[in-house]
Amino acid sequence: MGKLPETMKAIAVTAYGDKLRVITVPVPKPGINEVLVHVRASGFCSTDTHLLQGRQPLGTLPRVLGHETAGDIVELGPYVDDRWKIGDRVSLTVDVTCGACRFCRTGQTQLCKNMKRMGFERDGGHAEYVAVPTTNLVKVPETITYEQACILPDAVACTYHSIMAQGKLGMGQTIAILGAGGLGVHGVQIARQAGARVIATGRRPERLQAAEKYGAIAVNTNTQSLEDVVNEMTRGEGVDVVMDNIGNNASIKQGLGILRPGGKFLVVAYMEENFAVPAIPLFSKEFELIGCRASTRQDLVDVVRYVEEGVIEPVIGAYFDLEEVDQAVECLENGQMIGRIVFTRKEHYS
Ligand SMILES: [Zn+2]
Ligand SMILES: [Zn+2]
Repeated sequence: MGKLPETMKAIAVTAYGDKLRVITVPVPKPGINEVLVHVRASGFCSTDTHLLQGRQPLGTLPRVLGHETAGDIVELGPYVDDRWKIGDRVSLTVDVTCGACRFCRTGQTQLCKNMKRMGFERDGGHAEYVAVPTTNLVKVPETITYEQACILPDAVACTYHSIMAQGKLGMGQTIAILGAGGLGVHGVQIARQAGARVIATGRRPERLQAAEKYGAIAVNTNTQSLEDVVNEMTRGEGVDVVMDNIGNNASIKQGLGILRPGGKFLVVAYMEENFAVPAIPLFSKEFELIGCRASTRQDLVDVVRYVEEGVIEPVIGAYFDLEEVDQAVECLENGQMIGRIVFTRKEHYS
């Protein structure tokens, strides 16, 4: 490994409501118990475009985005213990947590009171290098590509956390996954592995075909009645769990309309500022509305192993260089690809 450069390219928010820009910034220095990671791939999430619009405060700008990151350790900061060495292949959990609050102490790191997230309150992985605490590192075996590894912390681990930890989905149950995009296509696989029956909704035939390939009953809501499919599959009872990857008032209405009494509605997306929830069905059917935020470090450890063992297949729809951020945004917005968009270097496209 030669000497590290002084500066690097990164995709950043420079002003809210502007566009995502490629800027040149200093290569970060790893702090105490941190390492510097040479980023080999980073996943592009629709949250990145929400952040551009200022939907969550990012602290001082410019802020380098990117909360789905994989790469190699190239430098160790002070006091890094000997579990980590230069050259290790790693994927990074999103939440940088304090380790001391009630939620950290009880393993609910996704609720840490003092968290600073990669690509939100601190600089993230849409860059050539990123500094990160060792507590955020999960080792990745050679059999998993960097492009696959980078989407595991969010698109896969968050979906896993939502369905298993929050939804408590189990054998023989039925789940409806509203929106078969980057999260949904992994949700189908996870739910099938959990022994559940899966209904996945969407409007784009290619995405529905992908959901079917992984074992879902696909419903094109442009042309089919979701209620009819649910009634037939569940003998009129309704589904046990709804995972809502759309997050608008129409999807809430649709999801609650097919949920069985006592069923769980997983709030994974938030396109609206407020949701309109019909009060009487919520009351009389004892629906559970459950927020699903991110994932724990153990969730990432788990999904890395599932991918290694072939239980889950990370689905990547498009590859772009960091410099091609405009094309990546266009691709994200037209929603035609299946699975996740990944920033990587040209030589890694596969
Ligand atoms: Zn995300
Ligand atoms: Zn904490």
